[in-house]
Amino acid sequence: MAQWFALKAQEPEALLFFRMGDFYELFFNDAEAAAMALDIALTTRGQHAGNPIPMCGVPVAAAPAYLARLIRRGFRVAVAEQTQSAPKPGEKPLKGPLTRAIVRVVTPGTLTEDELLEAGRQNLLLALAHPPGRVKRNGPVGVAWIDISTGAVETQSLPAEGLAELLVQLDPAEILAAEEIIPPAYADRRAPPVDGAKTSAAAALDAARRTVARAFDVAQISVLGDFTDEEAIACAMALDYVRRSQAGNMPRLSRPMRRGEAGTLGLDPATRASLDLLQGRDGTTTHTLLDAVSRTVTAAGSRLIATWIAAPSTDAALIARRQEAWCWLRDTPSVLASLTALLRRTPDLARALGRLSTGRGQPRDLAAIRDALHTANAAVALLQPASDARTPALIREITAGLYGRADTLLETLERALAEDLPLKLEDGGVIAQGFDETLDRHRALRDDSRKHLAALQLRYVDEFGVPNLKIRHHAQLGYIIETSASAAARLRDREGVMLRQGTANLARFSTPALADLDRAILDAGERAAVLERQIFNGLVAQAVAHDALPEVATLFALTDVLQSAAVLAQGGAWCRPDVTEDQQFELHACRHPVVEAALERGARFVPNNCMLPPAERVMLLTGPNMAGKSTFLRQTALAVILAQAGLPVPARAARIGIVDRLFSRVGAADDLARGRSTFMVEMTETAAILRQAGPRSLVVVDEIGRGTATLDGLAIAWATLEALHSQLGARTIFATHFHELGMLTDSMPRLTPYTMAVREWQGDVIFQHEVRSGAARKSWGVHVAQLAGVPEPVVRRASRLLAALERDHARTRPALPLFETEAEQAGTQMPDRLRAAIEALDPDSLSPKEALQAIYDLRKLMLEQNGPLA
Ligand code: ADP
Ligand code: MG
Repeated sequence: MAQWFALKAQEPEALLFFRMGDFYELFFNDAEAAAMALDIALTTRGQHAGNPIPMCGVPVAAAPAYLARLIRRGFRVAVAEQTQSAPKPGEKPLKGPLTRAIVRVVTPGTLTEDELLEAGRQNLLLALAHPPGRVKRNGPVGVAWIDISTGAVETQSLPAEGLAELLVQLDPAEILAAEEIIPPAYADRRAPPVDGAKTSAAAALDAARRTVARAFDVAQISVLGDFTDEEAIACAMALDYVRRSQAGNMPRLSRPMRRGEAGTLGLDPATRASLDLLQGRDGTTTHTLLDAVSRTVTAAGSRLIATWIAAPSTDAALIARRQEAWCWLRDTPSVLASLTALLRRTPDLARALGRLSTGRGQPRDLAAIRDALHTANAAVALLQPASDARTPALIREITAGLYGRADTLLETLERALAEDLPLKLEDGGVIAQGFDETLDRHRALRDDSRKHLAALQLRYVDEFGVPNLKIRHHAQLGYIIETSASAAARLRDREGVMLRQGTANLARFSTPALADLDRAILDAGERAAVLERQIFNGLVAQAVAHDALPEVATLFALTDVLQSAAVLAQGGAWCRPDVTEDQQFELHACRHPVVEAALERGARFVPNNCMLPPAERVMLLTGPNMAGKSTFLRQTALAVILAQAGLPVPARAARIGIVDRLFSRVGAADDLARGRSTFMVEMTETAAILRQAGPRSLVVVDEIGRGTATLDGLAIAWATLEALHSQLGARTIFATHFHELGMLTDSMPRLTPYTMAVREWQGDVIFQHEVRSGAARKSWGVHVAQLAGVPEPVVRRASRLLAALERDHARTRPALPLFETEAEQAGTQMPDRLRAAIEALDPDSLSPKEALQAIYDLRKLMLEQNGPLA
């Protein structure tokens, strides 16, 4: 228990997996928490301070599955292993317990095990820091993030208000930050804070810079790039945490890269949430853009394409480079088909390297490197003959980057690794016969001894006249002769034969010859195992130190994304968009890739054009519910994301002037969980658009103002539309069920009305999902109610009520103030007769009685003209 308490004190925030033979055992509160979370039995073991100690345990062999569940539930786990091996048979028993040490702290952001990781997703540890000194409101925040399963490190410094957007984009598994920096929505991903020694801000900054420099083996951090103070501090926090979680073992990390805000398409959290880019609102990955467009065949490729979609570019040159590369592949189908087949067989090099560099590598990880290098050469052999001067730059870079980069290592691995690799190094047989002479000698000795055993058994059968006598290995006794109890008497008094054990059924004997053999086999086997481990570690060190491997891994991922785009674009349903620097916007026959994929068999998705030229850059879209408005808005937003990610677009043709920020407010999900009403959420999001959108932005908004009373809502929708049209100048699609807004097209020159086509047929509505110019005439709400199965009498009653309401409405509807001016806002205009009467009054000449009469007259006049108020 003393040992347990000491280890627990090192990692008080983590559940302690305490190795006991073939189990990890948990005690006290840890046991209670784990038993509950894992739904396993809670028992007790021994006593502490007079009370039984709660205990539960999981078998070591099944530990990864249990670990995965605990991590997913938000726990951290410290793994304490036995660092001393149990005494062998015949060795002196130990005095105290075996020594143990924490070899690893498993946390959500520091996973490397395949079992615990999702293959197609990045797994990020992220740190946040303020610059040293006084903290300013909305001052800069330093962000650093590490994917230790692949070794990628990135940093960024940005104003505090941009943090939420970055966090949604990166979706980190674990966050290191002071409580006051972390946005509340991410509080549950925060790692428990470590108490550091209090030092001055300057000293802390200095230490941070040194930590980063040391981790990347450079004299000064400036060698790595132009990092801000807050980036350096955040980066150091993340590095320290990684080192601690790996018990001092630093994994191989690539040099940190700075990410600039410039160069990526702005997508705020609400936009991402409304578009289901990487993850659906239900948390799954089906029915997402990623799922609909990705044809990647490797895990690394699917991680990379996800980052392209999460952060599309605004750099026309970069976008063109990507497009040229996949178009070339698309137009070279024979190369493409072989490349896809080749990539399918490529192992996850980045993650294999990640495991090897943290000392958790297994034989299959070395095999993964060998196979990946093989594939690299095969890929070059495929691409090179097909290339010439007109081959796109990116393809040529891939070919050059993969060409013979680690041939010596490949050759070594090919010779070194055995054909059939065991799962674990301890199982032996990792290194091939013929690679190392000494190893072969030890093995021969070991195996020869086995032959001797067989010979010995034959001899004993003969000598003792016991045909069913066997030589067996026994855990405590070593090699022994085993006979049935009835035959035991024949051996009992023989020279040198010693009875070791006898039961009702069998008897076990040892002989000096057996003891000798036992030792020889054990020695040779042990020597072989030790040497094999040494050779293995040497190979691992070579692989981890090889500069080219991370780069090869990156190029493979890139190749996979390009092949994915090319495969998608084959057949012509997806086009290469023309991405330009102007503010044009044309989508010809565009589709929604996710809705299209989800349509029932037989149903056809209706493609639509979307034209927003500068002179008609605001589209007003009316139409009944279920007619396809939201789908149209989303597909337009998705087309921009795909185009600027450098990927194919689901349209016949497209031309897109680069969008700097994209705002999408479509079907805002209720945010009731956070205690805000739908309308409050809607208005907060509208406010964000009105403050941030500019002439290069694209805004797609759906049903603004639906969350409040009709007139309120209409007023807000109206004012928002005016601001978008006349002040911000953004390309806009504004979908609304307020058909009144259709009248505004007269007063707003760049506003063009469109509506969803609907046909009425034998009393039914048929939605044609087609966007046409013009305004909607009717709401069809009652029809939709009928469609949804609202009982017939209710529908009929609603129809009659609607007709009555429409009559009333037409009679009383005030004229909408289309041309509101500043003067009108200043005061209510007075009608002329009233005005004339007031002007005619001369207050100085009025007697008190005349004055009273004048008041009566004016009141009467006013009531005649305007009617009673309310
Ligand atoms: P609205 O926003 O006008 O109420 P939605 O965009 O939600 O309508 O569309 C309603 C349903 O109609 C969608 O779930 C989809 O199944 C179908 N739909 C929408 N657009 C199309 C289209 N262009 N082609 C085929 N079906 C469509
Ligand atoms: Mg809708």
